[in-house]
Amino acid sequence: PAPLFEARDLVKHFRSRGSTVRAVDGVSFTIPRGRTVGLVGESGSGKSTVARLALRLLEPTSGELSFDGVDLRGAGRGELRALRRRMQIVFQDPFGSLNPRMRVLDAVGEPLSVHGLARGRARRDRVVELLERVGLSAKDLTKFAHQFSGGQAQRIGIARALATDPDLIVCDEAVSALDVSVQAQVLNLLKRLQAELGLSYLFIAHDLNVVRYMSDEVCVMYLGRIVERGDGDALFADPRHPYSEMLVSAVPEFDPANTGRARPAPRGEAPSPSRPPSGCRFHPRCPRAFDRCSTDEPVVHPVAPGRTAACHLLEVDR
Ligand code: SF4
Ligand code: MG
Repeated sequence: PAPLFEARDLVKHFRSRGSTVRAVDGVSFTIPRGRTVGLVGESGSGKSTVARLALRLLEPTSGELSFDGVDLRGAGRGELRALRRRMQIVFQDPFGSLNPRMRVLDAVGEPLSVHGLARGRARRDRVVELLERVGLSAKDLTKFAHQFSGGQAQRIGIARALATDPDLIVCDEAVSALDVSVQAQVLNLLKRLQAELGLSYLFIAHDLNVVRYMSDEVCVMYLGRIVERGDGDALFADPRHPYSEMLVSAVPEFDPANTGRARPAPRGEAPSPSRPPSGCRFHPRCPRAFDRCSTDEPVVHPVAPGRTAACHLLEVDR
């Protein structure tokens, strides 16, 4: 069967002060139904831009996007609107993404009104059902976002994302703003909801432990490109691209009960996506760089079943 979501050779270039920022530069991935694909990388790698392109909140410069077999770029307005209902996003800052003047009833119920799915009593009942799903209750209906803790506010954000009964939820740094002790609770809630509702997630985070805990498949992004992709456990156990290696070795140990404590701290700063280095974009920071790396762009090589990486070292007969 066709995957739920597919991005092929996605490109997004922005014009900024006379230069072109190559925020996303040829990214391909698929999200199977009921599975989680993680996108990990430092800030500036293009992860959030991919999130916005996937939801068509941004228009790609080029590339193909499909959802449930429908070409998202060719879809007409009405079709796009119907598809939007099935794709939702949970943002990093739950307070920033919830209207401070809206009561919970309206914050969670708004998508139901916007899409004409329920109103009045039916809408209220549906909101209560959604709140209960995320561990809140009818008592919270009349409260405002600021009356909640960060973790509770993010639960409201998740309830809102669930309102339209989506198939895909994009989580863009959805637990990054939360205290470490609260992160695991929200991650476990997301996992439970996935099992109960058959959701697919595009799970974006800079925190390796969090991505590892959540994802079936992982894509490692560097300066607008996916440099390595594959089964999460295999990739974290044995990273093949030097950048993935650097990220993984910067995290002391993986402990699902203790997510978020260790942050990747690779050496050197990521260069700007407005002037990506020649050849392999990672070459100025790569401990294994050799002559060709500064001139030739590496192509994607299969490194194991279902795993690929873009590095000259992985060429079979180099
Ligand atoms: Fe390092 Fe060269 Fe591989 Fe790039 S292509 S990751 S610079 S070894
Ligand atoms: Mg971001």
